[in-house]
Amino acid sequence: MIRRSLIAALVAPALTALSLAPFAAPARAQEAFPNRPITIVVPFAAGGPTDTVTRLVAEVMGRDLGQPVVVENVGGAGGTLGAARVAQARPDGYYLLLHHIGMGTTPSLYRKLSYDAVGGFAPVGMVTEVPMTIIGRKNLPANNLAELVALVRRDREKLNYANAGIGAASHLCGLLFQTAVDAPMTTVPYRGTGPAMTDLIGGTVDVMCDQTTNTTEQIRAGAVKVFAVTTPQRLASLPDVPTTAEAGLPGMEVTIWHALYAPKGTPADVTDRLSRSLQTALRDEKLIQRFADLGTAPVTQEQATPAATLAFWQADIAKWRPVIQAAGQYAD
Ligand code: ASP
Repeated sequence: MIRRSLIAALVAPALTALSLAPFAAPARAQEAFPNRPITIVVPFAAGGPTDTVTRLVAEVMGRDLGQPVVVENVGGAGGTLGAARVAQARPDGYYLLLHHIGMGTTPSLYRKLSYDAVGGFAPVGMVTEVPMTIIGRKNLPANNLAELVALVRRDREKLNYANAGIGAASHLCGLLFQTAVDAPMTTVPYRGTGPAMTDLIGGTVDVMCDQTTNTTEQIRAGAVKVFAVTTPQRLASLPDVPTTAEAGLPGMEVTIWHALYAPKGTPADVTDRLSRSLQTALRDEKLIQRFADLGTAPVTQEQATPAATLAFWQADIAKWRPVIQAAGQYAD
């Protein structure tokens, strides 16, 4: 009797566990996403434009998803270190990447990467397209774009151009500028244009081209000199700053698109949930106002979907490939 009850005591929980197992598994699988914090990797240093955009979006998405959305800065190698981290992460929707135009250029610029720069990601949605500004240290002896061009042509050995590594937006914009004025400069690569801006303000480097999301407040405060915005029209946020065309460089127009990605293999219902949350963030009044203060605006709700982002991204890769091949300039 005793023995039987002992056996029963030992076996019963196991039987109960066994009999409950088929019910427990689906119950776990059906747990609503997300049920723990989400991380968004910014592949550049804190304090720069990609970081700024990501933190604004993450805050609203966190509220919408009912879980904290934290930002992790993994800067270096033009954004490829952070991108690699996400491409190789578990495809469960908890480890994401918010990148920029580098997603369009990296597949052609870098011939050796530790990750699949095209097949490694599942797009979630586009976020914004940001204008660039050509800026310089406060005491640079040039007061407009024509004077800057003359200075760069005359003194290029003495002038440094700051960027965030090969494939970074600042690198591409710098290439456009230096090609337009036919004067290559010495470049100083940073892990992001947040720290590059600190050095530009301090006068350690001379010239930079960067998103308005990093430059607007420094321009308004007079901490740096601005020479032009890289858009066909002037910006409401910087109405006194001439466009590149007005200032004498007509072909030099560029905007920087940002998008959110999950690792390839993330279930579609998860990327759809994240995309709906991103769309909610992009409708947020405070976010729209902050974007406007910084010279940009959210993309449309349609552009913030996985399908539209995939199409845009693929078109961007196709746009840059022949340009990079013709230039013959690779990162490796
Ligand atoms: N604006 C930087 C770039 O040049 C990156 C950053 O720090 O956000 O790509």
